[in-house]
Amino acid sequence: MASNDLAMTVPAPQSSHLNSIGRDVPAQESGDAERRARFRQIPPVSALVEAARRQGSRFSEEVLARAARAELEGVRRALAEGEVLGREAIAERVTGAILDLETARLAPVINATGVIVHTNLGRAPVSAETAEAMRLAAANPVALEIEPESNERGGRMREVGGLMRALTGAEAALVVNNCASAVLLALAAIGAGKGVVVSRGEAVEIGGGFRVPDVLRQSGARLVEVGTTNRTYARDYAAATDAETSAYLKVHPSNFRSFGFVHAASTGELAALGRERGVPVLEDLGSGALLDTTRFGLAPEPTVGEAIEAGAALVMASGDKLLGGPQAGLIVGRKAWVERVTRHPLARAVRADKTALAGLAATLRHYARGEAETLVPVWRMIGAAESEIRDRAERGRQALVGSGIDASEEPVVSTVGGGSLPGETLPSWAIVIKPMRGESVDEVARRLRVGDPGVFGRIERDRLVLDLRTVLPEDDDVLVDAVRRGIAAT
Ligand SMILES: *Cc1c(COP(=O)(O)O)cnc(C)c1O
Repeated sequence: MASNDLAMTVPAPQSSHLNSIGRDVPAQESGDAERRARFRQIPPVSALVEAARRQGSRFSEEVLARAARAELEGVRRALAEGEVLGREAIAERVTGAILDLETARLAPVINATGVIVHTNLGRAPVSAETAEAMRLAAANPVALEIEPESNERGGRMREVGGLMRALTGAEAALVVNNCASAVLLALAAIGAGKGVVVSRGEAVEIGGGFRVPDVLRQSGARLVEVGTTNRTYARDYAAATDAETSAYLKVHPSNFRSFGFVHAASTGELAALGRERGVPVLEDLGSGALLDTTRFGLAPEPTVGEAIEAGAALVMASGDKLLGGPQAGLIVGRKAWVERVTRHPLARAVRADKTALAGLAATLRHYARGEAETLVPVWRMIGAAESEIRDRAERGRQALVGSGIDASEEPVVSTVGGGSLPGETLPSWAIVIKPMRGESVDEVARRLRVGDPGVFGRIERDRLVLDLRTVLPEDDDVLVDAVRRGIAAT
């Protein structure tokens, strides 16, 4: 954008020089000359490196030169396509891109979208204690696979396994990279070369390319679909069971909801059938709630403990959705099945690292102490009282109006997101910003997004809505300040 603006202000390079040739040239030839003139505007790499240095770059000479060359490829393409870029504009574009590399892209932003578990904003922010546990594990050696008492190998899952056992009644646990890999691994270890029975109503796409039938095939298992899109009974699973049946897979529909003439076999029914036929029930819960969502005025979301209690052999869940911890995939359940999954070669390929394990354990301890609602950010956001959010919106609005910004506070609704509780909303309050000086709301929203910290809201009726349910109260002042600076910066 900026470089285009600049390009306009740069005189069309050397066109006078061309004219000064003073003879009639065929169209093609003059086009070539013009093209060469455009390309002559490209500054030497050494000058670009020098310019980046002057602008404060601390990258090494070698890295700067390579980055400049890479960026110049894009410039050449633009020039070849007929874009007119002056020397200054090119230099600005290249140094801008290089300096961008020196700024951490994954710096904190403020989520004022009203979507609590926002996948594009990195899902669950973790508690301070969890973040600290992750920092310490990252920065130091930890006894990840050594038993300090005996100095023998083992125990990678001891901490999380013990906590999950105490929290959910599961006999054992394995933690992997995310829930997608948990499902893939469980199916590969249990279903490969055999049939896995899935309801037609649960052969769903979760998003991001995760489609149950595809994952099942990738695992080497054979998909046996039963029932209909809207109604599937335990007897459908029974009829499809044969000597080749390795598992019944239940999948939480996560991001959509069906109602009306619908029926799904419960985990309990399938577990009873499975006991008769010697078939384990695998349940992909997705969001993996450990708390009862109905206490917060939300629809019931099956918890990990409920699935275990109902008789699932293995339950798979995400670490960073409703659990509110780091990215991870949990596989919990009966000891023999967890052991079988752990021994599968894929387990090594998708294993969780020490920081995820340390963070997950710290988050699980919040639940064990009964403090998840007050300390785990996802649950603090879900549990925040509407009246408190309203007071915060009121204070924020006042501060912004005091700075000459056209802001108001309004009631809005937030959602849980992250493929949990589709259609469920929580009442909330937002600071609503009206663009001023004839600016478009898109431009205002863009400036806030690229600020420091970036602020992400949502646009409704040509106004920028900043929903405070998804902002922690301790970040209110930071938000107000970022909005002030973003609006002032034109
Ligand atoms: C979100 C989800 C997944 C994928 O979980 P990730 O942790 O994102 O890999 C799998 N299954 C269900 C039902 C989900 O909701």
